[in-house]
Amino acid sequence: MLIVQKFGGTSVGDLERIQNVANRVSESKKAGNDVVVVVSAMSGETNKLLGYAEYFSSNPARAEMDMLLSSGERVTASLLAIALSEMGFPATAMSGRKAGILTDESHTKARIEDINPHAMKELLKAGKIIVVAGFQGVNKNGDVTTLGRGGSDLSAVAIAGAIGADLCEIYTDVSGIYTTDPRIEPKAKKLDKISYDEMLELASLGAKVLQNRSVEMAKKLNVNLVTRTSFSNEEGTLITKEENIMESPLVSGIALDRNQTRISLMGVIDRPGIASDIFNKLAENDINVDMIIQNKAHDGATNIDFTVPLNDLNDAKSVVDGFVKSGEIKADSYNEDICKVSVVGVGMKSHAGVAALAFSTMADNNININMISTSEIKISMVIDEKYAELAVRGLHDAYELDK
Ligand code: ADP
Ligand code: ASP
Ligand code: MG
Repeated sequence: MLIVQKFGGTSVGDLERIQNVANRVSESKKAGNDVVVVVSAMSGETNKLLGYAEYFSSNPARAEMDMLLSSGERVTASLLAIALSEMGFPATAMSGRKAGILTDESHTKARIEDINPHAMKELLKAGKIIVVAGFQGVNKNGDVTTLGRGGSDLSAVAIAGAIGADLCEIYTDVSGIYTTDPRIEPKAKKLDKISYDEMLELASLGAKVLQNRSVEMAKKLNVNLVTRTSFSNEEGTLITKEENIMESPLVSGIALDRNQTRISLMGVIDRPGIASDIFNKLAENDINVDMIIQNKAHDGATNIDFTVPLNDLNDAKSVVDGFVKSGEIKADSYNEDICKVSVVGVGMKSHAGVAALAFSTMADNNININMISTSEIKISMVIDEKYAELAVRGLHDAYELDK
């Protein structure tokens, strides 16, 4: 088999763990597989590098940030290749560039546009193990780019697609996909299988066990994706097509996203096209707007509230500032002490009353809901951050996910 194995930050968190990964990879190789390994930076490393830059600037140039952040993954890729070669398993470390990962020019959240697998295929043919530094690529100008937080998952899935791997294994610090974050709800249950669509919702709504774009890519390229732990041989969770799952439960999981900010725009001039102007400007700046609420207009002005991810906050503020300066918005305020809890399940499509149970669970726990949005397979609620864990556990109980 041709296998891609991705190891996350905790799995390569220190030298002993890198040796543990080398042992695991060598077992796969010994079993007769061709192996491409993708690694993250050692856990905490990317945040450490971010902190270094913050020491000098609150708004550093994104191109320099990519040079800086991409270094963490190179360290682990090199060390793992050295460890493997020392064990008698010839291995080559590759940067994103060398692995042929071409991205667009959007520094710090680049999208993969193409992968040229030629160099990887040649090395595989020569019997080598390849160790690719995750989270990075190169744009058409030759600049290093990074793929957004958690982006090594995307590197792994995209490579699996490009080389036609039989399997893409994501090794992490939990043994699979659970009904909710097992660190918040110890009663959470591990799922044997989950559909691409449900996993995509969970990931997009904050379950960082897989980066959302990696799930999107896995679905598009039909990659067989398994999430499992690097610390034991326990079987993981298969992420697969909906038709491969015999019976979909009503609700398959609860997600929590703490990285949300609520932006309130007060006294927004009520004219046709104003919402389009504001949200187009935000989109042009690559800012991911989620929930939006617009109130009824009063005296020619209205209020608009919306949420953005915390790391888009600075950029969003500069966009809003522009409209405040031009007088089209009177005042703006920002609330970072919020979070978003979501209930996800494809079974919801055909059942009534699923949302009502979510709302009454919040009521029973005395939690005020600030914003709501729903789709066919999810219900999301914005609440005060201090109730985050209470809400997750309450919903997990209400939908009987521990049963
Ligand atoms: P890695 O460093 O291996 O990429 P991450 O920290 O990015 O690992 O993701 C793993 C973490 O995701 C787990 O430790 C867990 O706390 C969290 N998580 C959130 N939601 C879930 C879920 N539904 N199932 C499993 N883990 C989850
Ligand atoms: N090291 C990067 C991050 O922390 C990428 C990854 O681990 O997937 O976001
Ligand atoms: Mg991750």
